[in-house]
Amino acid sequence: MQDYIINLSQRDIPNAWYNVVADLPGSLPPPRNPANGEPLDPSALSRIFPQKLIEQEMCMDRWVDIPSEVLETYMLWRPSPLVRAKALEEYLGTPARIYFKNEAVSPAGSHKPNTAVAQAYYNKLAGVERLATETGAGQWGSALSFACSKFGLKCKVYMVRVSYDQKPYRRILMKTWGADIVASPSCDTNAGRAILANDPTCSGSLGIAISEAVEDAATHDHTNYSLGSVLNHVLLHQTVIGLETKKQLALADEKLPDVIIGCAGGGSNLAGLIFPFVPDKRKNEKMRLLGVEPSACPSLTRGPYRYDFGDTACTTPLLAMHTLGHNFMPSPIHAGGLRYHGMAPLVSYLRHIGMLEAKAYQQKEVFDAAVMFARTQGIVPAPETAHAIKAVIDEALRCKQTGKEEVILFNFSGHGHFDMGSYEKYFEGNLTDYDLPQEVLERALAQLPDMPAPAK
Ligand SMILES: *Cc1c(COP(=O)(O)O)cnc(C)c1O
Repeated sequence: MQDYIINLSQRDIPNAWYNVVADLPGSLPPPRNPANGEPLDPSALSRIFPQKLIEQEMCMDRWVDIPSEVLETYMLWRPSPLVRAKALEEYLGTPARIYFKNEAVSPAGSHKPNTAVAQAYYNKLAGVERLATETGAGQWGSALSFACSKFGLKCKVYMVRVSYDQKPYRRILMKTWGADIVASPSCDTNAGRAILANDPTCSGSLGIAISEAVEDAATHDHTNYSLGSVLNHVLLHQTVIGLETKKQLALADEKLPDVIIGCAGGGSNLAGLIFPFVPDKRKNEKMRLLGVEPSACPSLTRGPYRYDFGDTACTTPLLAMHTLGHNFMPSPIHAGGLRYHGMAPLVSYLRHIGMLEAKAYQQKEVFDAAVMFARTQGIVPAPETAHAIKAVIDEALRCKQTGKEEVILFNFSGHGHFDMGSYEKYFEGNLTDYDLPQEVLERALAQLPDMPAPAK
C-alpha cells in the first residue's frame, strides 16, 4: 500500500530556488519606465527594495542559493507534506490519482511565508528597520507580520477595506505578530486620502492598497516596501514548493503529473508549484499546466496581454502582463486574494506563449467544491484554494468519463480557518455569483497606458 502522506526529511529542503527565466523559450519583456517607455533602470527600484531583491528581480541564473538564515526559518514548518487525496478520489469514483502540496501548514496558514521570510531577511541584511505592505484577504499581511517578527522588523499593513471588515481575526493575527494595521483606502497617505475624497465608502482594492504602501515606503526613512506576489523575486522564492514536490513524487515512485493546477491571484502559488516543471513541460507537450481564477476577476481568461501599472495610482513601473486595467474594481467576492487586476509577468508570459491554460469559475460552484473537499479530505480550504479544487474535481470527473489514470497535482495554497464568515454566507444561501459584463471590462481597458503590446 502506498503512503497517503509523503514526507521529506528536513535535510531535503532545497538549498537553492529555481529561476524559470533561465529555461524560457524566449525572453521576458522587460518592465518599462512609464515616463519614457524605456526599459526600467533597476536603480529606480532602490528607493523601496533592497539591492539583493532587485538583483533577484533581474536575475538570469538558473539557481539562486537560499541563505542559511532563511532555511533555518523555513524549518519551522518545511518541508510541507505532499498528500494523496485518496478520500476525494474515492468519493468522485475517479481512476485519476490526485496529489496536493499542503502549504496550509505554515505559521500564517498559506504559501506566502515562503517569500515573506526571504524578503524580511534581505531587508534586515540591508539595514532596513520597517516594512510597509498591502494585503487583500489578510494572508500576505499575516505572512509578512510573522516574518518581520522573526527578523526584528516593524511592519505596517494597508488592508483592503472589504477584507478588513469581513475578517477581523486576520487583523488580530497580524497584531499578535506585532504589526500595525490600517484599512485601505486610509487617511495615512495622499493616495488613500484622494480616493476617500471621491468615494468615502470605497471598499478598496489591492491596486489602491499597493499605492498606499509604496507611498509609505517612499516617504518614510529606513522603510522599504514588500510585495506578496506578482514580481519575479517573489515567484522565485515560491519555487521551494515545486522543488520539494518533485522530490516527493519521486519518493512515491509516481510518474510526472499529467496536469498541474493552482489558483491564480497575482500568480505566486501557481508559479511556485509549476515553474520547476517547466523544463519537463518543454520536453513533453502533453503535460498540462492550469491556472484557475474567479469569473469576477478574470485577468488570465479575459484580460489582454499588455503593459500596465501594478497599482491604481500609477506609481509602479509598467509590467507586461494579462490585465483587466489598473482601474478595474473587482466585485467583493470572498476570495480576496484573487481580486488583483493584473497577473505576474512570468505567469502571463507562459500563458501568452501557450504553455499555460486558464479557467475561470463562479464563487458558488467554488464553495461547493470547498465543502466537498472538507467533507472528504477533512481540511477546510481557503476560498482562493477552492478555485484550484473546483478545477481538480472537473479534471478528475473527465478522467472518470474517459477511464484515464492521470496524475493530477495541485497546490493547496492555504486553509480557510479565517474565512468562516464566507462559509457562513454560503450555508445561508447568501453568496452571489458575479458576471463581469463586457462593457465594464472594456471601460477599464480603455484606460490602459498608451504603449505598444509586448512582443512574444
Ligand atoms: C494570496 C493567496 C492566493 C493568491 O495569491 P497568488 O500570488 O496568486 O498565489 C491564493 N491562495 C491563498 C491561500 C493565498 O493566501
